[in-house]
Amino acid sequence: MLKFTPILLAILYALAMYRVSVWRTTRELDAKSTELADPRLKALTDRMAAALELSRIRVNIYEIEPVNGLAAPDGRIFITRGFYNRYRAGEVSAEEMASVIAHELGHVALGHSRRRMIDFSGQNAIRTAMAMVLGRFLPGIGPYLATAAMKLLAARLSRGDEYEADAYAAALLHKSGIGVAPQKTLFTKLEALTNARGTVPAWLMSHPKTEERIAALEKLEARWAAVGRR
Ligand SMILES: [Zn+2]
Repeated sequence: MLKFTPILLAILYALAMYRVSVWRTTRELDAKSTELADPRLKALTDRMAAALELSRIRVNIYEIEPVNGLAAPDGRIFITRGFYNRYRAGEVSAEEMASVIAHELGHVALGHSRRRMIDFSGQNAIRTAMAMVLGRFLPGIGPYLATAAMKLLAARLSRGDEYEADAYAAALLHKSGIGVAPQKTLFTKLEALTNARGTVPAWLMSHPKTEERIAALEKLEARWAAVGRR
């Protein structure tokens, strides 16, 4: 039993850190967000809500500059103020914004948002716990191995999640009559929008390449077209 105590402690520590980071994120989002009220966007989210047989889809504005969309662990959806400003300036269309909302809805519907918390801030806690455990068995290199393993795991998890959320969004946009085209044009714009800001957001670094995401969508469209013809 005594032999396993450090491992147990490490696991408990990781769980506690995860709880704290969920709580912190929720509090930060509560303090810095308001409900999105834009008639053109609402008309589009209402169409998506109808396709999902929901009464409405609530979207919030998160008051930060970097262009981003976010699905919180509690299932709420956020668009950053910086992103909304791009839309207000006419750089991003309402349909393209709807595709971001659809993508974030995908993360919520597919249960990714809890897992994504691990990407955002819980990752460090798990790495620390792993480093403690590995460091016991492999003194010296344990912590390095833990960091490398965690990075690989997080990148793989989030890449898979992105393709799944993209596919969900494509299906929803298709069903709502908005179509997949704005989703594809946004991907191309996103690269420019996020690069122009100078800082690459963390979530983008783990995102698949733009061309690969577009190619995946085109494969879906081809499949739907084939089903339609049958
Ligand atoms: Zn995503």
